[in-house]
Amino acid sequence: MRTGRIRDVVILGSGPAGLTAAIYAARADLNPLVLEGEPSSTSDQPGGQLMLTTEVENFPGFAEGVMGPELMLQMRAQAVRFGADLVVEKATSVNLSASPVEIWAGDDAGEPSVRSRTLIIATGARSLLLGLPNEARLIGHGVSTCATCDGFFFRNKPIAVVGGGDSALEEALFLTKFGRSVTVIHRRKELRASRIMQDRAFRNEKIDFVWDSAVSDILGAEQVEGVRLQDVRTGHERVLPVEGVFVAIGHAPNTGLFSGQLDMNANGYLVTHGGTKTGIAGVFACGDVQDHEYRQAVTAAGSGCMAAIDAERYLAAQHEPR
Ligand code: NAP
Repeated sequence: MRTGRIRDVVILGSGPAGLTAAIYAARADLNPLVLEGEPSSTSDQPGGQLMLTTEVENFPGFAEGVMGPELMLQMRAQAVRFGADLVVEKATSVNLSASPVEIWAGDDAGEPSVRSRTLIIATGARSLLLGLPNEARLIGHGVSTCATCDGFFFRNKPIAVVGGGDSALEEALFLTKFGRSVTVIHRRKELRASRIMQDRAFRNEKIDFVWDSAVSDILGAEQVEGVRLQDVRTGHERVLPVEGVFVAIGHAPNTGLFSGQLDMNANGYLVTHGGTKTGIAGVFACGDVQDHEYRQAVTAAGSGCMAAIDAERYLAAQHEPR
């Protein structure tokens, strides 16, 4: 995708933050280039985490709810309509000390793929895994982080979901459409999930809970056959026979690309100040890559709007006589 042209705005990421930034920057006549990411089965993909969800009930303006992928398709079409250029490529390297900043994408090496006067980072966050050796080995063979993607394969089978947040309960509720039973395994006795999700899960007859328990191993030679559970209070271990394990224990920001170049907090999230500014002039960050606190589609979209406005003002200030 190498281009000699210096862009005004390059946006990394195409979740709600990146695409809202693209809509605003395009409407400001800045012809942004969006590197959408590459298709994958994780949240680190074009459209971001909403591509892996079912119904979004709390995005304002959709009284009856909207499917996550449909919402992203609409945002994408809106950005294109106003003149954003979108490419299905992933940034592989950036040099933020250069001005304009330099970005490499896809297989490009040597000369940068593109240079830009401003950069909006909206690379989002990805699903965390438990870190068990058998978990990595059995991904795609019964271990998954995406019920929407893989739930269909577990028709009439016993399934476990690990985690106690909204994601875990959302996965569990969705999986009741397919599974014979869904067991939510949580390391504490209280869920972190919102009250409305808890009420739904408690009401659902197919869902049961195992409290105060950690998954210490995932069992199975070719396919998942069960999980080994450890009671965190007594240390007692037992095996729960399941054929699917959905891990929904939260997310980590996609910030590896910026390590050593931008300030991050202890969890690796980008640090922003004064809106969406990073420590480097002309480089802005929005959405889950810099938000450990709210992490909602609507807050991501809101901060994407802020980043585009911040970039537009930065560019305007560059053109003012000094
Ligand atoms: P989260 O709120 O951070 O919850 C992660 C859960 O996983 C917690 O219950 C945590 O346990 C557990 N956990 C973390 N590490 C673990 C480990 N190593 N082993 C076992 N369990 C572990 O993450 P999330 O559920 O992905 O939600 C992220 C954000 O998105 C939240 O703000 C949420 O409200 C939002 N969200 C909203 C919706 C919706 O509105 N429908 C749907 C999905 C997500 P502890 O509780 O003990 O820490």
